[in-house]
Amino acid sequence: MKLVFATHNQNKVREVSALMPSQIELLSLTDIKCFEDIPETADTIEGNAQIKSTYVKEKYGYNCFADDTGLEVASLNNAPGVYSARYAGPENDAEANMNKLLLELSAKPNRQSQFKTVISLRIDTAEELFIGICKGEIIKEKRGDQGFGYDPIFQPKGFSETFAQMTLEQKSEVGHRGKAVRKLIEFLSSNF
Ligand code: IMP
Repeated sequence: MKLVFATHNQNKVREVSALMPSQIELLSLTDIKCFEDIPETADTIEGNAQIKSTYVKEKYGYNCFADDTGLEVASLNNAPGVYSARYAGPENDAEANMNKLLLELSAKPNRQSQFKTVISLRIDTAEELFIGICKGEIIKEKRGDQGFGYDPIFQPKGFSETFAQMTLEQKSEVGHRGKAVRKLIEFLSSNF
């Protein structure tokens, strides 16, 4: 079965491709000649994942899945959440986003937070959602140079390293995206 991963990020496609059961042929947006930026206009992480998978299914006719991720900080009413990429402005600047978050939290004793990934899978007329959560805290200063986004200031629960101090394998083992992807793969392996 052909299945589209609705992302322009080739790194994500490569990572997930390696884990797919052999009966699934994973295609990227580039493979199906979808070059547009799919609008992410929902106000929830679930909603944005659903918009992207529905867009591909309806416009291109392929079975498809899409992911969306956000960082939810308890003492900020779960902000930046669905707006994580553009927290400090439309440029999706990771340094500016982290600096803004550190400033917002400077006077708050509760630094608990979680990353949440939602994957929306559309196969024919059915839809499934897979959710991966990684709980942790926002530390006070950036540590590490691996990964991307908020990784240098996020320390998962039970670890003394930030995501940015972990290898990709370690991060994938404990991280939100890895958890959601493993649920998706389990579902595909047992149903197709
Ligand atoms: P996306 O939905 O995967 O594009 O993620 C939206 C935004 O959330 C990214 O631009 C990052 O700012 C942040 N983000 C998502 N996943 C991670 C992660 O694994 N580590 C750090 N930041 C992340």
